[in-house]
Amino acid sequence: MARYVGPVCKLCRREGMKLYLKGERCYTEKCAQTRRPYPPGQHGQGRVKLSEYAVRLREKQKVRRIYGVLERQFQGYYQEGSRSKGRTGEEMLSLLERRLDNVLYRSGFASSRAEARQVVRHGHIRINGKRVDIPSYVCKVGEKIELTEGAKKFGKVIASIAGAEKRNPASWMEIDKGAFSISIKGPPPREDLNEPEIREQLIVEYYSR
Ligand code: SF4
Repeated sequence: MARYVGPVCKLCRREGMKLYLKGERCYTEKCAQTRRPYPPGQHGQGRVKLSEYAVRLREKQKVRRIYGVLERQFQGYYQEGSRSKGRTGEEMLSLLERRLDNVLYRSGFASSRAEARQVVRHGHIRINGKRVDIPSYVCKVGEKIELTEGAKKFGKVIASIAGAEKRNPASWMEIDKGAFSISIKGPPPREDLNEPEIREQLIVEYYSR
């Protein structure tokens, strides 16, 4: 599946908040959103009043960018959410949150979802003993995710574990830092997904317009 490869700090500045797309740098004073907290481009510092449509669009774009998903795939999450028995917005977020690249990021074994994605794509992940190299794989309750012996020695992985305290720990997974493994205990609770704030109802309104 294709992915966005352009400059990511611009995405945070467009959304007007930190989306934590660059790992460690996001927690330093080098963060572009801290240094230039206004939208990118020539007219970035002008005053703009957003229409209702624009507010919904921005919320959708924000969440899509947080999880690093392109439009078509994101629509797929929305449609799957709308087919489920639960609330569309919450189901959509639950699917995004259980993506393998996100699980790796939340566990602290990767400092960003982009880094996690690379670890997955390069075949360094085993789920219940089987190789899985698809970043969009949706993890299920009860599954055990492990890093390969090679990946346990990666400098990036070790540095990420050291810096993981800065990020909110995920309550829905059991993380064994010594064994480099993650066990999925249950579905991700909605209240865990608040950094940055997400208003999924606006996304549902955007797609059902
Ligand atoms: Fe760049 Fe991270 Fe700051 Fe976003 S939060 S502007 S990705 S450094």
